[in-house]
Amino acid sequence: MYPSSVDVAIIGAGPNGLGLAIYLRKRGIQHRIFGSPMQTWRDMPKNMNLKSLGFATSIPTPDGRTTFPEYCRSHGLEDYEPIEFATFAEYGLTLQQDHVPYVEDTKVTDLKRANDQFVLTLETGERVRAKRVVVAVGLTYFPRIPEVLAGLPAGRVEHTWGRTDFDSYANKDVVVVGGGSSALEHAALLHEHGARVRVLARSRVYWGGHGPREWERKLIDRIRVPISSIGHGRENWVLQHIPWLMHYLPAEKRIPFTRKHLGPAPAWWLRERVDGKFPVQEKTVIVQATVNDDKLALRIREEGVGEYDISADQVVAGTGYEVDLERITFISKELATEVRRWDRAPKLSRHFESSVAGLYFMGPIAAASFGPLVRFVAGADFAVSTIAAHLARRPNTFGAVWRRIAGPGVSVPATANPERVMSQTERNYSRHLQHSLEPSPRSPRSHWE
Ligand SMILES: Cc1cc2nc3c(=O)[nH]c(=O)nc-3n(C[C@H](O)[C@H](O)[C@H](O)COP(=O)(O)OP(=O)(O)OC[C@H]3O[C@@H](n4cnc5c(N)ncnc54)[C@H](O)[C@@H]3O)c2cc1C
Repeated sequence: MYPSSVDVAIIGAGPNGLGLAIYLRKRGIQHRIFGSPMQTWRDMPKNMNLKSLGFATSIPTPDGRTTFPEYCRSHGLEDYEPIEFATFAEYGLTLQQDHVPYVEDTKVTDLKRANDQFVLTLETGERVRAKRVVVAVGLTYFPRIPEVLAGLPAGRVEHTWGRTDFDSYANKDVVVVGGGSSALEHAALLHEHGARVRVLARSRVYWGGHGPREWERKLIDRIRVPISSIGHGRENWVLQHIPWLMHYLPAEKRIPFTRKHLGPAPAWWLRERVDGKFPVQEKTVIVQATVNDDKLALRIREEGVGEYDISADQVVAGTGYEVDLERITFISKELATEVRRWDRAPKLSRHFESSVAGLYFMGPIAAASFGPLVRFVAGADFAVSTIAAHLARRPNTFGAVWRRIAGPGVSVPATANPERVMSQTERNYSRHLQHSLEPSPRSPRSHWE
């Protein structure tokens, strides 16, 4: 029997949600966790690989043990790259069974506030009260389909998210839109399952390079261009090792930088399954899409060529993700309107808490507040340890009094909350970062889009 009223409810059982549950259990904080364990990773197609390196894809644990590379080695599997999504899913499930066997494999269908607490409704119909709620649903609600394709009949256009059936595309003309990892991996799999594939990429395709492994690099190279959990380079090294700094950059610098940094770039090991196998048209966009005699009629604009028409049976959109709080269907409208935003993402305190006291967000949705690191599994370590420490803290008396006076949904003013005031060192680093992290068209790529 689970309690109907808990201190903390975690929504999501991926690397972020599971990592947080492991930390809360260790600290003795009462909680319940909802979601299908490692669902995102179990739902990835077979024969597809992680973009991140093995050491950058561990689920955080307080003792730092049972890392992903350790798991791979103990099973006689590759522990650096490329590593299959399925291996990561199995590692996560093993960790879950060992440390968080009480995960409830069910969906939250509604989340609202009632006085000082939150009320969650589960798909089983059960209602659960929680003092604090952490939303860790990854990219589940955010697949993006470009407007020009959105009007096509259902079934004619599909996003790459959650697609595992490729057999039904055999002998069909399939247009794959996008130039990142997901688009090209899906294109390769569709081709290998007998589809006639054509890829349309809006810009150039930036293939990831196949460099030497870390221990094969010269010491001087390792110092000049250090490796980090999100790629090579000093910028990435700073983002990993001083993760809270991004939070203190002014939003007008942090948000454009976060959008551009580590943009789409398919991995080197995919190239032999793409080059010469099917056409990849760069700098090409679809400007109009209609249905004509049971075929899709697509008007294409290709740079240097002009506009022309093609037909297809199906379009697969590998067009990335768009974080938008409003799209998380289980958050009630009233609660969502209380959450202050950076653009469409929640504005988070340095503890990942939103302007609604007790409501936290982690994972890619936190990137507008914390920069690119939290878009990846590598960011879970920082997010989990920060949130767990905050949840373990005694309630801030000033904050509680302030909220009582100001009313629900109002955050404690930054100047009045000692926790939000930057130290001189933080300010100095922040100023330095502001200059060195200007977004540039040559920003490094290695993102998994
Ligand atoms: C195609 C693709 C490839 C990627 N490759 C990499 C990579 O190689 N390396 C890397 O670091 N990152 C990668 N990412 C990014 C990665 O998915 C995110 O960093 C990741 O989602 C973080 O884990 P998470 O725990 O936040 O979410 P997820 O692992 O996505 O977990 C989401 C959880 O939320 C649960 N959930 C959703 N809705 C509800 C609900 N209503 N009620 C209850 N539970 C719910 C799900 O069941 C699931 O348990 C990739 C993303 C995509 C889309």
